Amino acid sequence: MEVAKYKRIMLKLSGEALAGEKGYGINFDIAKKIAYSIKELVDLGIEIGAVVGGGNIWRGRNGSDMDRTTADYMGMLATCINALALQDCLENIGVKTRVQTAIEMREVAEPFIRRRAMRHLEKGRVVIFAAGTGNPYFSTDTTAALRAAEIEAEAILLAKKVDGVYDKDPNKYDDAKKFDKLNYIDVLEKGLQVMDSTATSLCMDNDIPIIVFGLERPENIKRAVLGEKIGTIVSKK
Ligand code: UDP
Repeated sequence: MEVAKYKRIMLKLSGEALAGEKGYGINFDIAKKIAYSIKELVDLGIEIGAVVGGGNIWRGRNGSDMDRTTADYMGMLATCINALALQDCLENIGVKTRVQTAIEMREVAEPFIRRRAMRHLEKGRVVIFAAGTGNPYFSTDTTAALRAAEIEAEAILLAKKVDGVYDKDPNKYDDAKKFDKLNYIDVLEKGLQVMDSTATSLCMDNDIPIIVFGLERPENIKRAVLGEKIGTIVSKK
């Protein structure tokens, strides 16, 4: 029988992960594949919190001529659209879910209530945390780190377009070197593109390991949870 390394995880999916090749909008074939790999984890008895980004629809920094706060609220709303899409794909294959939002929209989803989220997780429901932290000037990476600490997740699974952390952009440089392991300080000092520094610091302060892996094969999510060496692990050691 397959034995998972973690009992409770936080899965961070960037908005781009849902977009596929086009880089914008939602590709439902991809969203369904992701949903199936999440289902495999649920079937293994793993409790899953998920944070979805919004970059496939809108990022605060896209609105260069706009008021930054307004542009960031637009980004937070974008994450809600993605969260509902993921929820729909999961529910269609029989996975019980709840979406909790950091900005109240009671007709659409529950507000974020930590104790309630814990209860959902214990009951085996996938809890999708939407609307980021509810605050401008933050990212969904920071949301994932914050919610991971709050729900006492044992690790953050950070699904990316690239299959780990490199010393330079592997799409531009043939000699880019992939790291198997890193510690938080290395990431911060070298300015490596893992998470933004706020998110990385939060993980460091709360000792939450980050497993960075490529989502080009959605089955990677399961491999990461089973403790297989894929991608890059960022931790204290
Ligand atoms: N955002 C925000 N506060 C948060 C989370 C997100 O203001 O706590 C906004 C921000 O403008 C960000 C956008 O929402 O650019 C979408 O999130 P993000 O860029 O993290 O999505 P991803 O890159 O993961 O798709």
